[in-house]
Amino acid sequence: MSADVAAAYHEAGHALVGAGTGRRVHHITLKPGDPRHRGECVLEPAAIDLTPVTPAEAAEITARQVAFSLAGELAERLRFGFAGGYERDRCDADEWTGRAEDFLGAPPHRWAGLVRESVTGYLSDHLPALRRLANELLKQNELDGRQVHQIVAEAEPIDLSAAQNALIWWSLRERSRATARAARATGAVALGPAPTT
Ligand SMILES: [Zn+2]
Repeated sequence: MSADVAAAYHEAGHALVGAGTGRRVHHITLKPGDPRHRGECVLEPAAIDLTPVTPAEAAEITARQVAFSLAGELAERLRFGFAGGYERDRCDADEWTGRAEDFLGAPPHRWAGLVRESVTGYLSDHLPALRRLANELLKQNELDGRQVHQIVAEAEPIDLSAAQNALIWWSLRERSRATARAARATGAVALGPAPTT
């Protein structure tokens, strides 16, 4: 197996899952001969801000972003049983799981595994589209967004609800703890109705 084939499946995985999360793929490309940067998959818009959104929206954005980051590695694992050269993706995934911990109080080990499961399931359900994308990328070395979306047109959106629900659960837990802390600080009773006289 050549490194290009692995890189083609890697970028195809990012593109398939990126499109499955409702993003527009701008292009995917292979960079033969560059072992540190074997290819790239660029989505539109390139940057997402997490700060001014609700916990439910933050859970959705975070799960989608981590799914996209892990998709390259997981596509390689699914196709070849192993993967290499995904350190940058892991950094991206870590950055987003870190933000989820800050914003929602959700420890990564409690939900990131659910994203991995969903992405692996989605990729194996869409193996023909993954294969077509990888093969076309190997032939042409670069595919623009129109070509990518033509190939993945039949793929339905990816279901990340398990991870999203876990993230929301953690944020509710965090909020109720904060309420209890505030109540304790003011000497009020946190639970139950106010006593009547
Ligand atoms: Zn990657």
